[in-house]
Amino acid sequence: AHVVAAPCVGCKYTDCVVVCPMECFYGDEQQLYIDPNDCIDCGACFPECPVEAIFLDANVPVKWSGFVQLNADRVEVL
Ligand code: SF4
Repeated sequence: AHVVAAPCVGCKYTDCVVVCPMECFYGDEQQLYIDPNDCIDCGACFPECPVEAIFLDANVPVKWSGFVQLNADRVEVL
C-alpha cells in the first residue's frame, strides 16, 4: 500500500485525494492517511503530492517508518 508521511503534516493539499480511484484517503486535523486495505498501489496519487509525502510502504524513509502503522491505525477510527 501507499503511505502518507510527515511532509503532509500541516499541508493537506488534496490533489492526491481527487485522483485516487479507490477513495483510500482519510484525514484529520493533522494530515491525510491512506487506507492500506483499499489501496491498489496504482501510484496515481504519488506525483500529485506537492510536498512528496506519499511513498510506497516499502520505500518509506526509515525516519518516517512509523507512518506505515499510523496510516493503518488512523483510518480505523476516521
Ligand atoms: Fe489511491 Fe492509487 Fe494512491 Fe493507492 S496508490 S492511495 S489506490 S491513488
